[in-house]
Amino acid sequence: LVVQQLPMAKDFSSFLSKEGAARKKSPLKGLLRFMQGDMISLGGGLPHPSTFPFYSLTAEIKGMGPEQSPVTTPVPVDLTTPQEQQKAVRGEVVTVPHGPQANKVESLSTSLQYGIGTGIKALREFCKEHVATMHAPKYQDWDVVLSAGNTDAFAKAIAMICNRGDLIFVEEWTYPTALETLDPLGIGHVPVKMDGEGMSAVALKELLDNWGSTPDQGGVAKPRVAYLIPTGQNPTGATMSIQRRKDIIRVAQEHDLILIEDDPYYYLQFFIGEDQKQTEGQKDQDNSNNGWMPTLFSMDTDGRVIRLDTFSKTLAPGCRVGYMSMNAHFCNIIQYHNEVTIQQPSGFSQGLLAEMLVNHWGQEGYKRYLTENVRTEYLYRSRHLQAAFKKHVNGKYASFIEPSAGMFLWIKVHLEEHPRYGKVKDNVLMLELFNKCVEYNVLMVPGWQFSCKPKPTDIDPSDLLGSWYDEAATYMRATFAYATFDQMEEAITRYGEALKAVFAA
Ligand code: PMP
Ligand code: PLP
Repeated sequence: LVVQQLPMAKDFSSFLSKEGAARKKSPLKGLLRFMQGDMISLGGGLPHPSTFPFYSLTAEIKGMGPEQSPVTTPVPVDLTTPQEQQKAVRGEVVTVPHGPQANKVESLSTSLQYGIGTGIKALREFCKEHVATMHAPKYQDWDVVLSAGNTDAFAKAIAMICNRGDLIFVEEWTYPTALETLDPLGIGHVPVKMDGEGMSAVALKELLDNWGSTPDQGGVAKPRVAYLIPTGQNPTGATMSIQRRKDIIRVAQEHDLILIEDDPYYYLQFFIGEDQKQTEGQKDQDNSNNGWMPTLFSMDTDGRVIRLDTFSKTLAPGCRVGYMSMNAHFCNIIQYHNEVTIQQPSGFSQGLLAEMLVNHWGQEGYKRYLTENVRTEYLYRSRHLQAAFKKHVNGKYASFIEPSAGMFLWIKVHLEEHPRYGKVKDNVLMLELFNKCVEYNVLMVPGWQFSCKPKPTDIDPSDLLGSWYDEAATYMRATFAYATFDQMEEAITRYGEALKAVFAA
């Protein structure tokens, strides 16, 4: 039997920012490793658990154990309506006891206690095992550290590898919070052209090959980091194909880039039926996992991908728990950063998630939950909004590309069909449309909000015109994640009428 030896991660020390390079292990936390066997600690200032007024933590959760029958009818259940709440089956009760537990999960007195910045053992190990089976990393020394969600994780990844004055590559349309993280730190961004498959590897390569050739790039250091949202991209809904992912990895290797893979919508993939078979067909060579798209992290043989996962879209945003997967050196630095900021995600969240995932659902239950609940729910929601769009919107005025993952429909408004097109600026027409939508009681996000163009520092939030934005941002973002099915139908009917009214003028 030949066991293929995986390589060790490359040394990315030279990519560390001044801040990242300066992060050191805490000597105080270092004492924790002596806390075993017969040791009596008069060391760390841990508050006594008898002073925690929480005897146990009990929650009612969706049953996903192996004995539970799977969701057989893919009829979306909308628990936000009283009728559906009445019909909803009672959940399974889980309890995290205060005192020591016989099983693998920490007791409440431990998860509510101080600990090291990796997160509690049971939850971190569950996440690591999940990552190992989902993404089968291609180098040996990778690891996982818990975060307080991808917002927190992104800010920490940036602090680790970017200095004030650096530039990073971002998708042409991107998540505004990412830019709002970068701007005050004095870290600039370089937009890279996108197509229906997200960031273009060709455009990225061209920028890198020719860096320094334009006046604004002269003397400016070549970016060494790219930020990508590869699945169900926010706002465009684009998902990178397997080939695109490979191409991006190849460019990153050629030009020695670090990739930040922010993937909150990874499990909201709609490839089922034919698409799934096609992906499964590539399983051996690409390691795609039962129809789940292979990630950039799964293709990384060097340790250059920082993968950000979050429970925000799979369990609930208020959990404030996520996990970062990357080379072990980077994991340590993030751990030390956690230790001087959040310490760990909230002990209530960690305790409850560990109890639910480790002792009740297990890896298989969680995967079934992701497939049968999360993925299915959003698939049906997505189809519903798209069908409503096709029914109620005149395709002459607006269209969309079918999203294959995520929560968003990125709507292109065909301003060239407008009688005043070319006579007034595009953003004036877009504002007219936005105002008409508000008048007709349907809200969408104006496309300019996702633009990479620098926004003025004193931007007035009520400036919906984006008057500073002089290029065509002829898009609007609609989400199928939240409204009821009836509301989606009604909203799109109103949108169709708003378009008709604006295009008549
Ligand atoms: N500041 C001081 C002076 C402390 O002693 C401690 C706890 N040891 C902290 C901050 C950390 O507080 P928290 O757990 O709220 O982050
Ligand atoms: N990254 C992207 C691309 C997102 O769209 C979102 C949520 O809207 C987040 C990160 C935030 O994730 P979290 O709730 O884990 O901080």
